[in-house]
Amino acid sequence: MFDPINKAENVTQIITRDDLRKYYRFRAARFYGGIATADCVGCCLQCIFCWSWREVMNPNAYGHYYAPRDVARRLALIARKKRFKNIRISGNEPTLAREHLLKVLAMVPSDMLFILETNGILIGHDRTYAEDLSRFKNLYVRVSIKGTNEEEFSGLTGAQPQGFGLQLKALENLRRAAVKTHPAVMVSFSTPDNVDALRKQLIQIDNDYSDVEIEELTLYGDVEKRLEKTSVTYRTADQTQRK
Ligand code: SF4
Repeated sequence: MFDPINKAENVTQIITRDDLRKYYRFRAARFYGGIATADCVGCCLQCIFCWSWREVMNPNAYGHYYAPRDVARRLALIARKKRFKNIRISGNEPTLAREHLLKVLAMVPSDMLFILETNGILIGHDRTYAEDLSRFKNLYVRVSIKGTNEEEFSGLTGAQPQGFGLQLKALENLRRAAVKTHPAVMVSFSTPDNVDALRKQLIQIDNDYSDVEIEELTLYGDVEKRLEKTSVTYRTADQTQRK
């Protein structure tokens, strides 16, 4: 098991050069009704269900370095061409290169909504990160919680169990800094009782968090093969819909 904060520091060394960060793709995506997407390289977790596992496990081997201005320009170009109102950094974990991310946010068009999808670890670790993000009024943060408790978190991500609390702390820090935020949780590995227990914890942070977004597993790429090598039980989005 690894410390996700140490891992974030180590991976950041690989994926940044001054204020440049590695990305492996720029694309238009269908989510959120259409969103311009920059797929970054590097994460502080190793989720067994991750669809961009290659880049997570080997950040040295993938991507090229881009300046914040270049990333903002590419996102805006895709969005304008496709008439999208939404833009995001996805792929791996956008919060790893903090200065780079803040510069991208300062450079994207203010009439577009930037959706920050994060595992929340670094925002939970340092409350000033949430305060920095609060400067951007066209920002919406989606904190994707891995598992419903410490044990599940650790089993799913390979990180030390205490990391689970950092995700909840991120929601607290973002709420305190008045950043528009909502939690999402991957439930495909959890019992309904554990999901209910998490919901109760979220309500204690903010009543609005009772409306947690439910994420379910989709077997993209080699995810199924990877899961077969573990002892975890799961159900996919398809299986839930068939019930
Ligand atoms: S936090 Fe996201 S990018 Fe990182 S390993 Fe997990 S699913 Fe993949």
